[in-house]
Formats: sequence, structure tokens, C-alpha cells
Amino acid sequence: MSEATIAPPPDEILVAGRWRRGAGTPLETVDPADGSAITTIHRATVEDVDEAVQLGAEAASAPGWRDLLPHERARHLHRIADGIEGSAERLARLQTRDTGKTLKETRALVASAAGTFRYFAAVLETFDDELTARRGPSLTMSVHEPIGVIAAITPWNSPIASDAQKIAPALAAGNAVLLKPAEWTPLVSLALGRIATDAGLPPGLLSILPGSGRVVGEALVNHPGVGKVSFTGGTTTGRRIAHAAAEKLMPVSLELGGKSPTVVFEDADLDLAVNGILYGIFSSSGQSCIAGSRLFVAEPLRDRIVSMMVERAKALRVGHGLDPSTQVAPLVHHRHRDSVAEHVERALAEGGRLLTGGAPPLGPSFEKGAYYLPTVIDGLSNTARACQEEIFGPVLTVLPFKDEDDLVEQANDSVYGLACGLWTADYRRAWRVARKIEAGTVWVNTYKQFSVSTPFGGTKESGLGREKGRAGIAAYSRQKSIYWGL
Ligand code: NAD
Repeated sequence: MSEATIAPPPDEILVAGRWRRGAGTPLETVDPADGSAITTIHRATVEDVDEAVQLGAEAASAPGWRDLLPHERARHLHRIADGIEGSAERLARLQTRDTGKTLKETRALVASAAGTFRYFAAVLETFDDELTARRGPSLTMSVHEPIGVIAAITPWNSPIASDAQKIAPALAAGNAVLLKPAEWTPLVSLALGRIATDAGLPPGLLSILPGSGRVVGEALVNHPGVGKVSFTGGTTTGRRIAHAAAEKLMPVSLELGGKSPTVVFEDADLDLAVNGILYGIFSSSGQSCIAGSRLFVAEPLRDRIVSMMVERAKALRVGHGLDPSTQVAPLVHHRHRDSVAEHVERALAEGGRLLTGGAPPLGPSFEKGAYYLPTVIDGLSNTARACQEEIFGPVLTVLPFKDEDDLVEQANDSVYGLACGLWTADYRRAWRVARKIEAGTVWVNTYKQFSVSTPFGGTKESGLGREKGRAGIAAYSRQKSIYWGL
């Protein structure tokens, strides 16, 4: 299949199971590899949100979706997974055009989305309510009930995978879901909506509402009919949503930003460590919430690791996402590339030393693309802005540490607490340090590995709540306890 054969989805949004042209302003989507327009769709409006909430609430209320037996709801999730798998290559190519990512990455994201639907179908079939032990003259059951209408708001960096992580458990729990994708990357989310409707998902249960955060996003968050917001995105936006949720006393889950440390101890397998660190920061061109953007190296290893990192970072192939040899693809948008470049300029002004990377001195074929080279900077202290602020691009800062206490203190000296990577041959040390690090996920001798059955989320300003795992369904449910007098 050639690039030219990937038809973008039609100019339609999904409002409670019905496809129609959005009544809002036009939104042009752009291929970041060359700045060309992919297509134009029309945004949803506040009225679309009202309609989607009302019809969603009706579709989710009894007798209907919520009363289907678990295996009946699970069958719908499997059909969506079948649809994703049946269109996998088309979805991956569409996402590569929309986000710039390499085809290898988008294929993995599409496979992960299908796997997420299958996983939550399986969890649903084995998800039991509790019969709790008797403490008096009654029998007690604690049952999970759907919340009703869920607003899911997602960022641009891994659309189909982050959409699936919200839609699958929310539908499994018996809710209707209203998804608002990011403005830069709405296409694959719309394609996922098309797959769900083609798979026969009952009308009303899913809406895909592209539009700006300030209009569509805020209308969803503030709508009295929305019972929960599941948000993935930046910490500033997450805080704003949390304030609005507090007013409504509405549950909210927040998957937010990060500034994750990766650590090489003296006894580490250096080859393994350097490859893991490169993957942790430069895959997805660093546009990953869990990007390992602060590298801490045991002082005696510093020069050796720095030279290995620089040599291998220089060797990474920067190019078009559809070129199979590309290892580092363009950033999502020119505006984002400019923001990454500003962060780097500021880091150098703060005393940082550019070891490799920066804006690309590449040939004419790269001129129009949002490219930025894999960048390594040293000479900064952990308090520098480049070591504290999320850059969300292919930029690694290298810092030395003296001993374990110094490492833990520096690694935890961050407002974020999303992830961490440790490379050491000493399993006791790995355990000790992993327990001291303030992060939702710690990888030991590996990085950026995921399993849908393992809970994921952040601490501190990286978020609230967990996605994935068996508890994923409970996160979209309300618990009710019923006592039966005996
Ligand atoms: P963003 O916060 O700007 O936008 C995320 C989503 O929120 C978009 O759909 C946007 O339109 C919407 N939005 C913006 N303002 C809103 C408002 N006032 N009300 C409701 N919705 C609003 O983030 P981004 O730039 O799209 O994504 C990058 C960020 O996402 C990074 O900080 C990254 O770390 C984070 N992220 C976190 C995770 C995680 O799991 N922790 C995963 C991926 C990305």
C-alpha cells in the first residue's frame, strides 16, 4: 500500500452513533513530515456535546447496554478489536501521516489498541462483584454499577492506544464514552469510531468529538451529565480539569506529564543500558510522557557513557516515518518543533554543553518537515530548567551522581513522578532504589516496556489514578453495597 492510497476519513464527526459533518469551525490536519495538508474536518460544537451527552446517557441507562450480560458486552469489544486488526495497516499508515511517527511505532500502537479491547473483554467476563463476609444479621453484596457518561480527553502523542485505554474499560463497565481527541491528531480517533460503529456498537454509546480544549474539552468537563473525566495530557491542563471536577465533585483520572530519570550504576551492563536509554528518550522522537529525559550516571562512568551515548545518538537515522529505515521521525507539528528548539537554546544559555543534536542541517527533503535531531546535553545541574521542565522532544540531559543517596535525592527532586529506569547487576540495589524512587513505574534493566495487565499512572504532578490492569474496569464504575436482612 502506498502513502497515496491512505484515504483520510471523511469530514464527519461521530455524535452518539450518528456520523455527520461537525457544525464547528474547520480544522486542517497537517502531515508533519512535509507540512502538507492531509484533510480538513469540521470541529464539534457545544451543541454537539449536549446531544452526545443526552443520547449517551439514554444509551447507557437501563434497559440497555448496562444490563447486557458480561459476555454480551465483551462480544462487542472483541468485534471492535477484530475491526482494528482487520484495518491495522491502514490505521498505522494514517497515524504515521497524522503524527509523523515511524510506521514501526504506529503498527505497535494499533496492535496495542486491539489488545486493549481484547484484554478488557476478558477482564469483563471474569469480573466479579463481592459477597462480603457477614458481620451481623445480614448478607452483604457490593456491586459495581456504571457511572453513565464518561468524557475521555486524549493528547496527540499516541492517539489510538490512549483512546483504547479509556474507551475499552469504560464501555466494559457499562458506560457511554465521549472522546475528544487532540486538535493536531484527530484522524485515527475518527477512524477508530468508524470501526466501532461498523462493528455494530449500539448507537449512542460512543461519540468522537474533535475540537479545541477550550470549547469542546471544557464543555465536556463542565457538563452536568458527564459523570467522570478520564484525561491524558499536560499537567497544566490536568490541573484545570481537576479544579472543574472539584466544583462538580466528579471523579477524575489524570495521566499527566513527566521528567523521568534513567540511571546507570557502576555495575551495569553498559551496552544494555545505553541501548535502553537511547530507546527511552529517542523513540517517538521523545514525545512520550515516560521519555527518560534525565540521565544520571555514576560519576566514574560519566565519560564512557557520554561518549557511547553521543556516538549512538549520532548514528540514529532521522527520516520520514514511512521509510522503514527511519529510527527518529519528525515531531508532531512545526510549532512543537519550535518549542523543543527554544528549550534547547535556553539550556545552552543556562550553561549546558551541546554534545550532539539540535536543529537538523539536513538536505532539502527535510526542510519542510518538523525534524529535530537526537540531542544530548551535559554540564547542567538538576535544578536547570532543561532538567526540570518537560520538553517532550528528543532531548537528553546527562548528570553525574556520587552515590545511591545522592542519586535518589536528585532523581526525586522533580515535581513529576511518572517513571524511572535503573540499570544495575545488583538486584538488591535495584529493589532498594526502586522502592525509594517517587514514580508510578520503575523499569529495571529495561525501559518503556508495557503490559495492559499492569496498572500505569503517575505520582506527584504526573497524575492521579491508574489505567490498565484488572482495576481498570472498576475505575469506570460506582460501587454500591446492598445488605439483605436474614
Ligand atoms: P494538552 O494538555 O495540551 O492536551 C491534551 C488534551 O486536552 C487535548 O485533547 C486538548 O485539546 C485537551 N484540552 C486542552 N485544554 C483543555 C481544557 N481546558 N479542558 C479540557 N480539555 C482540554 O497535552 P498535549 O500537548 O496534547 O499532550 C502532551 C502532554 O500529554 C505531555 O505533557 C505528556 O506528558 C502528556 N501525556 C501523558 C501521558 C500519561 O499517561 N501520563 C501519556 C501521554 C501524554
